[in-house]
Amino acid sequence: MEMPVPDAAVVADKARLVTRLAEVLPRDAVIHDPAQLRAYECDALTAYKCPPLAVVLPATTEEVADVLRICHAAGVPVVPRGSGTSLAGGALPTADSVILGVARLTDVLDVSYPDRIIRVQAGRTNLSVTGAVEEDGWFYAPDPSSQLACAIAGNVAMNSGGAHCLKYGVTTNNLLGVTMVLMDGTVVELGGGHMDAGGLDLLGVVCGSEGQLGVVTEATLRILPKPEGARPVLMGFDSNEVAGACVSDIIKAGVLPVAIEFMDRPCIRATEAFAKAGYPDCEALLIVEVEGSPAEIDEQLGVILQIARRHDPVELRESQSAEESARIWLGRKSAFGAMGQINDYMCLDGTIPVSELPRVLGRIREMSEGYGLEVANVFHAGDGNMHPLILFDANTPGDLEKCEALGADILRLCVEVGGCLTGEHGVGVEKRDLMGDQFTPEDMEAQMRVKDVFDPSWLLNPAKVFPLPVSEARRMAAE
Ligand SMILES: Cc1cc2nc3c(=O)[nH]c(=O)nc-3n(C[C@H](O)[C@H](O)[C@H](O)COP(=O)(O)OP(=O)(O)OC[C@H]3O[C@@H](n4cnc5c(N)ncnc54)[C@H](O)[C@@H]3O)c2cc1C
Repeated sequence: MEMPVPDAAVVADKARLVTRLAEVLPRDAVIHDPAQLRAYECDALTAYKCPPLAVVLPATTEEVADVLRICHAAGVPVVPRGSGTSLAGGALPTADSVILGVARLTDVLDVSYPDRIIRVQAGRTNLSVTGAVEEDGWFYAPDPSSQLACAIAGNVAMNSGGAHCLKYGVTTNNLLGVTMVLMDGTVVELGGGHMDAGGLDLLGVVCGSEGQLGVVTEATLRILPKPEGARPVLMGFDSNEVAGACVSDIIKAGVLPVAIEFMDRPCIRATEAFAKAGYPDCEALLIVEVEGSPAEIDEQLGVILQIARRHDPVELRESQSAEESARIWLGRKSAFGAMGQINDYMCLDGTIPVSELPRVLGRIREMSEGYGLEVANVFHAGDGNMHPLILFDANTPGDLEKCEALGADILRLCVEVGGCLTGEHGVGVEKRDLMGDQFTPEDMEAQMRVKDVFDPSWLLNPAKVFPLPVSEARRMAAE
């Protein structure tokens, strides 16, 4: 993948820049030793790597503002980083950039149960937000499978989702306000702690902006009381298409499970070997979970099981205990890791109308055969948010390029059937060259003009989201 080459003048000025940064940060918060920089050369899209100029780890909003002021004055690009779990290369550095990591911003600042909010520093991990309130019977709903590691900062930047977002919505539906630092060091408050903040909805613009508009340092999030109970059902089917049709029928019937997750045979096989979740031996598996009181659960499951039976399932197993439920979810949540143990893979993230699931799954199978690369599927089926995993061998010359071409074709298919290029992982570098398949030049121009307003110098995460020649031209024009 082509990345901008380091600007010679900036590289020559590295020592001066590091000295300036060390004046406003503790000694151990500025990393410039080449060996240590290797830890930051990529995110979870490991196919692409590039060590940054330096890494800084501020611990307060004020320190973040100081860093940005210094980089702004020096004309040095800044790549914000949470936990580096982006699958789209969102946190991938450029050689001339400083990585600004928020991993030291982890405090809980406020919890109010009457207001149903929690305010946290943005480097706090997703799971530890729920950890802060669960003893009192509350939780934070968006649950990316990476929730043990990923930070709220990254969740806000990518508008992340998760298995249980079918019912509760994704990050943008559970975010009330942020503190954000602009590239010139200005600190702004967007949104608040209430249902609407008045004025223009800039919070909505920032959520999903992929670190291109400002560095988020604090976030106010909606928390919810835990439901009385929840029960997953495992459903096994003879083909991907039949499982897809079952999902479509459940949604059509008007019941809203909290989650509908899909896995196909290659994924089931890898996951079962890894997590021993007790999954059946079948072509396609659904995990459908409902929640509420025991009576509500029975009523919803009654409708769902009836629909499933019409699709001739080879397995229909209702969880009988909390332990069994945990085992079922452990399998799903470890699916990516399990695949990674046996293969190199590229994880795609396209969204399609749920009604198109059966057709699209069939087309993906044909495309995979055409390219001679296996594709495993594990995804949030209820939202139509697909995650085809293309398996390849990074050591076979040409395999990565073939994988990229197949990935591009699958994402174009998502757009063609009325969906879009990304459901929750963002565009990053991975999909920036496909933006023209979804947006007209006028659409993209409107988006870039928003960036012009927040970051007129185009120094924040500049090589992402937009096709590289377009964003480079914009950045040069801003210099
Ligand atoms: C095994 C695995 C499973 C996953 N499952 C899911 C899933 O179910 N759902 C899902 O949505 N995603 C999933 N992801 C993708 C990833 O975890 C999410 O995109 C996550 O939100 C990234 O958070 P992070 O803290 O790691 O961010 P990073 O990877 O560090 O950064 C992601 C983006 O956020 C920007 N950013 C980071 N910090 C800031 C900040 N302070 N201010 C502004 N911008 C910032 C970066 O510049 C970058 O563009 C998964 C990833 C893995 C590896």
